[in-house]
Amino acid sequence: MVVTSKNSPDLATRELLLGTVKEVLDDFGDSYWAEIDRSGAFPAEFERAAVAAGLMGTMIPEEYGGVGLGVTEAALILRDIANSPAGLDGCSVVHMGMFGLNPIRLHGSREQRSTYLPMAPGGELPNCFIVTEPDAGTDTTRITTFARRDGNDFVINGRKVWISRAQEAKMGLLLCRTTPYDDVVKKTDGMSLFFLPMDAPGISMRRIPKMGRHGVDSNEVVFDDVRVSASMMVGPEGSGFYTLLDGINPERIMIAAEAVGLGLQAVTRAVEYAKERVVFGRAIGTNQGVQLPLADVYSQLKAAELLMLDAASLYDGGRPCGAEANMAKLRATEAMHLAINVSFETHGGYGYAKEFAIERYYRQAPLVRVAPVTNNLTKAYIATHVLGLPKSY
Ligand SMILES: Cc1cc2nc3c(=O)[nH]c(=O)nc-3n(C[C@H](O)[C@H](O)[C@H](O)COP(=O)(O)OP(=O)(O)OC[C@H]3O[C@@H](n4cnc5c(N)ncnc54)[C@H](O)[C@@H]3O)c2cc1C
Repeated sequence: MVVTSKNSPDLATRELLLGTVKEVLDDFGDSYWAEIDRSGAFPAEFERAAVAAGLMGTMIPEEYGGVGLGVTEAALILRDIANSPAGLDGCSVVHMGMFGLNPIRLHGSREQRSTYLPMAPGGELPNCFIVTEPDAGTDTTRITTFARRDGNDFVINGRKVWISRAQEAKMGLLLCRTTPYDDVVKKTDGMSLFFLPMDAPGISMRRIPKMGRHGVDSNEVVFDDVRVSASMMVGPEGSGFYTLLDGINPERIMIAAEAVGLGLQAVTRAVEYAKERVVFGRAIGTNQGVQLPLADVYSQLKAAELLMLDAASLYDGGRPCGAEANMAKLRATEAMHLAINVSFETHGGYGYAKEFAIERYYRQAPLVRVAPVTNNLTKAYIATHVLGLPKSY
């Protein structure tokens, strides 16, 4: 079945949608994802199946050939992908097409929208999000990658780091400065967003060897006199930080959904193992010392899921959701961290063996605690924006 359009979907439509996701996932088992993890190859077969099922167009409006659903449905899809052998490798193939194009959808020019959005549902627009810099880190206002106006063009110079999927991407959404930090009154002003082709002359990249989620590359990307037409700016000049926010909150909600899914998958694996593994003449799952931590983390994951759904419904309803998106990201990734550890311990020494998927999930999990925002910074956001304490960052 292929996902078809439905705004404000009812429960039956959601069930249909998630049934489609399950059909896709059923064709990609542990051996497929273990091989992707081992080889570092991009999961192209999975991407093709996701495209054929219509998943890439989930959030693209119907007028551009998409399904026109909201963040809620996108998050549920990602939750279910993570809650399968695919884990975060599978999510990273699909999620960029969901939150990455949101700033274009909401702030792009008519030409940008009509050129690029129709390419997404068919999988013709692999894209990347280019924000983080080596010397700025979490303090995005300190980025120094600079776009200098030159006639009808901008010329870009700078260095970015940790850019996911840059090797595969056709286009990238780049945040850079168009006014230096020292020349703005408000430090979040003076940044602009560009949507640019990743094969533009002057762009070079280097893959960063890393711990897990090997199916999707992470890269250092250098811009050396990269010329881009001013027509590729997304939103008004100097307002890039605010334009980007329309991608950031959905991203946090979707990452929360992925964390919930990965945590649930870890619990499921542990429960299956605990029922089968016999020690001291009985299944280890008979012992409360094994049962109770699993029940504990399961309930934490389900609580985080409610927070995630609350944030998603606020966003879809056009209401502010910064606090809820940050709290959902924090609680979901912390619950996932506990769940992965409990599952690992339930597996005893075998948790350390590549034969069991928990070893792969164990290496994927830390990623969503530090990216796209570290959990320290989500707490600092809550302290400032919810509790009204002085800004500490
Ligand atoms: C695999 C992977 C994929 C990624 N993909 C992308 C991508 O596609 N695009 C992109 O732009 N970026 C991407 N990132 C970057 C990611 O968003 C950053 O790594 C993350 O935001 C943290 O920045 P940093 O690593 O520079 O940490 P730093 O800013 O150096 O922080 C280091 C530590 O100090 C803490 N800290 C710093 N300041 C404070 C403070 N004021 N209060 C409390 N604690 C503080 C942080 O919480 C953290 O624990 C990716 C990262 C990884 C690992």
